Amino acid sequence: MIDEGYIKYEAFWLPAPEFDAVATDSLIAYRQLMYKYDLIGAYPDGIGFGNISQRNGQSNSFVISGSATGSVPMLSSAHFSLVLKTDPFLNKLWCTGPHIASSEAMSHAAFYHKLPGVKAVIHVHHEKLWKKFLFHLPTTAVEATYGSPEMVHEINRLLDDPDVVDGKLLFMAGHTDGIFAFGEDLEALSNKLISLLSAL
Ligand SMILES: [Zn+2]
Repeated sequence: MIDEGYIKYEAFWLPAPEFDAVATDSLIAYRQLMYKYDLIGAYPDGIGFGNISQRNGQSNSFVISGSATGSVPMLSSAHFSLVLKTDPFLNKLWCTGPHIASSEAMSHAAFYHKLPGVKAVIHVHHEKLWKKFLFHLPTTAVEATYGSPEMVHEINRLLDDPDVVDGKLLFMAGHTDGIFAFGEDLEALSNKLISLLSAL
């Protein structure tokens, strides 16, 4: 069974109308690019994978693609959520918008809280990249499954290392095919992932 797609944190979602296009335009553009390269998409059984987020101004809140949207061919601003607050110790998350936040939102939050310079986070799946770089590039522990408090702990542990921060990539040993890219902007992260693919 693929461990993917269901929410492991306690979610407090306040439904609200869809966002202005300005809040989601670049997220949608780079999400579609990731979809084109099969870095966000769906497995043959229909379970979607991958999600994308961007920091909301200077705050620790962020806009993220919604839960179970990986398989949707074309996203709109109705597929996003604004994560207002997270509590990784109590495993609780508060969000608002037209869609409930991604099951990986708690992990995205860990990057934004730890590093003020991080403005964007992309979580993708790719079997060949994962197999090639797992344990060769920074990798979260096998015991840390996706969307879990253990994953938040692992992200925090690894981001203490400046070399890891420079590398902008984390591979997830406890989440088959799972990879995080994080950094200053969506364009640089997308380019980084696509250039890895071309090096396969
Ligand atoms: Zn995943």
